[in-house]
Amino acid sequence: KSAGRGVAVEFAPSMERDVLGTQRLALDLAHAIAADELTLQYQPLVCAKGSPIYGLEALLRWQHPERGMIPPMVFIEVAEKTDLIRDLGDWVIRRAFADSRHWPDLVTAINLSPAQLRAPGFVEKVATLAREMNIDPTMFELEVTEMVLIEDVARAAEKLGQLKEIGFTIALDDFGSGYASLAYLSQIPFDRLKIDRSFVEDLRSKSGADGVIRSIVGLGCSMGLSVTAEGVEDAQQHRFLQEAGCTHMQGFLFHRPLTVEAVMTLRSARPQQKLRA
Ligand code: C2E
Ligand code: MG
Ligand code: MG
Ligand code: MG
Repeated sequence: KSAGRGVAVEFAPSMERDVLGTQRLALDLAHAIAADELTLQYQPLVCAKGSPIYGLEALLRWQHPERGMIPPMVFIEVAEKTDLIRDLGDWVIRRAFADSRHWPDLVTAINLSPAQLRAPGFVEKVATLAREMNIDPTMFELEVTEMVLIEDVARAAEKLGQLKEIGFTIALDDFGSGYASLAYLSQIPFDRLKIDRSFVEDLRSKSGADGVIRSIVGLGCSMGLSVTAEGVEDAQQHRFLQEAGCTHMQGFLFHRPLTVEAVMTLRSARPQQKLRA
């Protein structure tokens, strides 16, 4: 009964606390997906120069009825340990496709987790959904992390290649934060690198962070990729990153993640903003 909301739970007494916490969160999450308790917020993606908005990254939000706002890093990890990530991932794609109708002139970026890409029939499922919902894949960017590449580069390359053929743009998210060998970079048809927020953060404190960023930008540019800096919080970082050659940016300096309504309000307040790639 204490589980509430009609959920039956039975735990072995020997289970450890964190396991219990994970199981509980997984049950709550399954319920949340079914009950539509999740939402997407959208963080504007801007061009480095003049910072006009060219796109929006969809970011999952879960307002838990008892625990309050749970960060996506926490519940996505739980979803990945169970099969929930597939339902969750499907939900995100469907919702982002639907929400994008509000901004047909902007790119919508969607995060994919490794388990989604691994699932048989994923590419076909996305292609079918895009057709059914009548969306233009060229206006969508799919973000994957190095985690996608660690298990099976060949398979990831094949699937991402197919998604790209359909018209989707493919971005490598959190670049530099993972443990994958750089060898994959030439095997996967990426269009964009997103420099991990930690490097941008290090600009404030660590000497040498500037050199690392310049090298990443150089690597991306020489491979013909666009380079986005994530987590830009102050004007000094912005200036350095732009000068270093980052073409696109994202961060609290420009905009925080916004509800769909807030995106609409922002855009109606700045009607002069036009798409610039
Ligand atoms: P991410 O894809 O790298 O998304 C960017 C994260 O950085 C977001 O955190 C965003 O709020 C945060 N951020 C952006 N600018 C700044 C800044 O200037 N300063 C700081 N401190 N943070 C900034 P959020 O929304 O908590 O998401 C965390 C991660 O959860 C995402 O990182 C992504 O890996 C994952 N995630 C979120 N939504 C989804 C989803 O729908 N599917 C999957 N598979 N993963 C998702
Ligand atoms: Mg992302
Ligand atoms: Mg990122
Ligand atoms: Mg990140």
